Amino acid sequence: MTRRTRKTPLWEPGCVPAPGGLLDWRDGRHFDHWQDLPCVLCHQPTPMRSHYGEPVHKACAEDWITANPAEARRGRFASDIQPKRQRDDDHA
Ligand SMILES: [Zn+2]
Repeated sequence: MTRRTRKTPLWEPGCVPAPGGLLDWRDGRHFDHWQDLPCVLCHQPTPMRSHYGEPVHKACAEDWITANPAEARRGRFASDIQPKRQRDDDHA
């Protein structure tokens, strides 16, 4: 298997949380059902993947954002896109 570059996300990421905030990784694509790989931050095995396919624990990514707020703004780790709620403007 060839490694994907980090330049193109595997699927479209949403917003980067503020430092100290939590990532919203509800999409099943964050979970690799096939294998655990060493987390890029703490080197412990994890089935979790970033939007760019980096193996990383969600908690480690959140800590990294808090520790590297400037670099985090470039979007290395981002939350999933929030589905817009259907507005209830059915009023006549
Ligand atoms: Zn980790």
